[in-house]
Amino acid sequence: ITDKINALPDGANYFSLEFFPPKTAMGFANLQSRLERMSQALRPLFVTVTWGAGGSTATKSLELAEICQRQLGLTTCLHLTCTNMDRALVDEALEQAKVLGIRNILALRGDAPRSEEYRDDNKLPEQDSNKDFTWAIDLVRYIRKQYGDYFCVGVAAYPEGHSDESHPEHQNPSYDIPHLVEKTQAGADFIMTQLFYDVEKYDRFERMLREHESGAFKTIPIIPGLMPIQSYSILRRTTKLSHANLPADLLARLDAVKADDDMVKKVGVKILSEMVEHIKARPDVAKRGFHFYTLNLEKAVSHILEDTHLIGLIPVDDDDAIETTPAINLEPPN
Ligand code: FAD
Repeated sequence: ITDKINALPDGANYFSLEFFPPKTAMGFANLQSRLERMSQALRPLFVTVTWGAGGSTATKSLELAEICQRQLGLTTCLHLTCTNMDRALVDEALEQAKVLGIRNILALRGDAPRSEEYRDDNKLPEQDSNKDFTWAIDLVRYIRKQYGDYFCVGVAAYPEGHSDESHPEHQNPSYDIPHLVEKTQAGADFIMTQLFYDVEKYDRFERMLREHESGAFKTIPIIPGLMPIQSYSILRRTTKLSHANLPADLLARLDAVKADDDMVKKVGVKILSEMVEHIKARPDVAKRGFHFYTLNLEKAVSHILEDTHLIGLIPVDDDDAIETTPAINLEPPN
């Protein structure tokens, strides 16, 4: 990923798309067609594939990553969590990623076990044999130790602070920053953020990082994470879960149309496009990227990319072989 970013000319913009592995074979078939369409029509710099906390989607995540990397020839980044799952699974996932030709890992802690899963003595449950990993930094260090520079490693950051129900007092970006400095110094190559809708908060966060006294964030790519608005209820749920602030003016625009799903989507595209333009206008970054949490849906992100002129900026790589049949519209998207 960072090689591809570095190869872009100054002033270029790029974007990436996140997908999660569907539960069923039919879901996989539908997503594969959608991925073919989206990758050819939109040309993301890279795609990412999520990893279920505790390794719950390990097989399916690797299956989807294989489709993206091998069959569709997309530069693929596999998310990988490291806590609350068997240590062998971390090794297996990294080895399998290497076999598939995947060169990018988003190294995450994953969510901690629920409090009732802790033993009385407050230690991790017995089945968590993975005592070497407590924080994402442990995984970053581990990947560097085991694989040197083979993988390009990304880490997560939280423009509004990491939301941890058990320590709500820590939800403050300045609490996270020393840990983010450590993750970066341990060998992270890029930073990808949690979703947000408050661009002022994002601006402050990015400025805080760029100007940080450690110098750790002077040049590292910081990719803002954006979630297109698919419906009023999904928006309210995801912002609640991630503790993302919905600025009053945005909420008022959506409240005014909340009974009409199509209008919510339209207003949502407008809002996201404005956010992209706002961030693009910041003069301080030579190459500006955007990461979209697609929820495996196609329309909203396509409209946003079209409205903000982000489509097709990435040259087609001759090595990007498409081995599958051409895209056919199998189902009404979204
Ligand atoms: P860490 O970097 O370990 O940080 C977690 C918290 O602990 C932060 O508040 C940090 O400040 C604090 N901390 C870090 N180190 C220390 C220390 N040494 N001492 C004390 N406190 C410390 N989850 C999934 O399960 N699957 C996914 O695919 C997935 N993808 C994601 C993609 C992105 C872009 C983002 C932003 C999040 C994603 N998550 C995913 C969620 C993530 O796993 C959770 O938010 C998790 O709770 C924290 O992960 P982290 O990697 O940020 O952890």
